Amino acid sequence: MQSISLLQIAPTLAEFFGVHLVSQAHPVKQILKFAYSRKPVPQVVVLVVIDSLDFRFYFDFADELETIHDLVERDGLLFECETVSSHTTPAIASILTGLRPESHGILTGEDVGTSNVNSILEILEDEGQKTAAAIETKGAKPLWRRISHVFAVDDREDIFEYDELIKTHTISVLKKQDLRLVFSHLRAIDRFAHRGGDLSVAAKATDENMRAIATAVGERDGMLLICGDHETHLKDRKAKQATQGKAPATVPLIVCCPCI
Ligand SMILES: [Zn+2]
Repeated sequence: MQSISLLQIAPTLAEFFGVHLVSQAHPVKQILKFAYSRKPVPQVVVLVVIDSLDFRFYFDFADELETIHDLVERDGLLFECETVSSHTTPAIASILTGLRPESHGILTGEDVGTSNVNSILEILEDEGQKTAAAIETKGAKPLWRRISHVFAVDDREDIFEYDELIKTHTISVLKKQDLRLVFSHLRAIDRFAHRGGDLSVAAKATDENMRAIATAVGERDGMLLICGDHETHLKDRKAKQATQGKAPATVPLIVCCPCI
């Protein structure tokens, strides 16, 4: 398994769609080769960030994340990605721009919408290629009137209801035939980790949502990318890491073309 960085996702998508994105990170050749070798070559790519899904969590909860593991085992690619931040906002901005947090400057929710750096979504739209995003309302703000389809979901106490809405929007927008890229963000695992909830319940619900999204991507002969954004925020694990002086956690990136 190849080790890459989350910064390489946006440059890879830019190369695949033939648009120009400024980043020091290189496209992942293996992903491009995978995409171009499909028949038909995927016309739409869905990128789902699963908040707090780190590499260790991916294997610790392999039973609950059965669908995602299956997508890799059947005919997918799995990468171990270096992370760029332990916080959601800068990490997602890095995934979508290919730039480090100090370069894109989007460090907190307050910074969202103030950056003049364009994400891969906006770059594609500027080149006439249609994109969509299903994300939390605050994160969606800068994308209004910039990209074709914005589904803003308000944050709420019931995080399963939140993820359900993200899933539903992601699947429904896939019916648009001229769509090139969809970005979605599922949050149940992160919420449960922060609050000390039963992580296997959150993992199972996330896997069910991914199963539905993967089916919809398969029906469009699309390509699905699934990744985490940062290490899982678990109090006891963080304390252990600090004493052992371990390197920051890595996150998985799964690339697949789900068959139906
Ligand atoms: Zn996060």
